[in-house]
Amino acid sequence: MDPPAFRLARLPVLDDPAFRRVHAALPEARLVGGCVRDAVAGRPIADLDLATPRVPEDVIATLRAAGIPVVPTGLAHGTVTAVVDGRPVEITTLRRDVATDGRHATVAFTTDWREDAARRDFTINAMSMDAEGNVWDWFGGRDDLAQGVVRFVGDPATRIAEDYLRALRFFRFHARYGRGAPDTAALAAIRAAVPGLAILSAERVWSELKRILAAPEPREAVRLMAETGVLAAVLPEAVARERLDALVAGGAPADPLLRLAALCPDADVERLAERLKLSGAETATLAALADPAPAGDERAWRAALASRGPEALTAATWLAEAEGRPGDWAARRAWIAATPRPVFPLRGADVLAEGVPPGPRVGAILAALQRRWAEAGCRDEAETVRRWLRETVAATGA
Ligand code: ATP
Ligand code: MG
Repeated sequence: MDPPAFRLARLPVLDDPAFRRVHAALPEARLVGGCVRDAVAGRPIADLDLATPRVPEDVIATLRAAGIPVVPTGLAHGTVTAVVDGRPVEITTLRRDVATDGRHATVAFTTDWREDAARRDFTINAMSMDAEGNVWDWFGGRDDLAQGVVRFVGDPATRIAEDYLRALRFFRFHARYGRGAPDTAALAAIRAAVPGLAILSAERVWSELKRILAAPEPREAVRLMAETGVLAAVLPEAVARERLDALVAGGAPADPLLRLAALCPDADVERLAERLKLSGAETATLAALADPAPAGDERAWRAALASRGPEALTAATWLAEAEGRPGDWAARRAWIAATPRPVFPLRGADVLAEGVPPGPRVGAILAALQRRWAEAGCRDEAETVRRWLRETVAATGA
């Protein structure tokens, strides 16, 4: 068996009770993928992913015998999920690719750790680590991580043709780990692979775009996406990179939808949401982001705060600032944070209590009163608005 490439000093992840518990049952299992990358980089670890040469049936039986609940989450490709103290730990049997079609691979199980590493996308994602902190690093992942280079394992063009999603994953990892000049072979292969990206489902494209846009610093990755033609292929609505740049430079939160809205200011939200298959909640957020910050005085802002809420209104100020609209947007955000959201004080029941019979007129009266309340700066308290209600009913009859 290959000796490890290096050993890391005591790592918190190795003391993780979930890892220890699974490892006690499966002593040959190693951590793989993102958690090893982040351990080597000294970054916090998100998910625990393990690999083992045992076949899934053996993994399931062994974990169950050890009293660990296990769910066969992806048996066809060798993955089961152990649940320890409510936390999921994925355990995947070592694999090699038998056939690929540009997105999905037909895999065969193997007992060869290096073979499993060789099918992974980037050198920084292809390391494995045992419970003592020994790291196997066949492709120079540690050096690439230290230098901030995202490099394909093997020939970039071949690896992309096996799975075009890797062209987008490159930008996800470049945004998070890349520094300085990107790997030229990778960029050339990605540029040549742009027509092939059409094979990717909208769900996968959005899932990657979202992660790229959620990175603390997405600007260089998005610039490279534009330069290679990837951006135009997967997000032709992205016509305003300078707004994304301004948004990030201005210190706006790393919110993928806010950044998407900045990049695509002219997009038809319904069509964009439909094309990228956004969730209902994402679509609603994006639609709210299309509503610009109010142009008027204090009353307009109070009305906007009442109707849109502090979060959406704050987002609108970031977009206005990124767009270059004049204004003291930081002061406006401070005002939003310090101002309680005005709440219209009447409900349908109040109108009924004045003797108006149930029916469409109730809603119409409420809407008119709410408009008047908003135009007055949402300041008037329940007593005043009730007086308006009584006047309205008296003037028009119950
Ligand atoms: P993140 O912190 O973003 O989740 P990750 O490395 O865990 O990063 P995942 O997408 O969860 O990324 O994938 C887990 C691992 O599986 C990767 O580190 C990589 O080794 C491998 N992998 C995932 N997708 C691919 C792919 N399309 N081609 C090759 N290897 C892949
Ligand atoms: Mg992951």
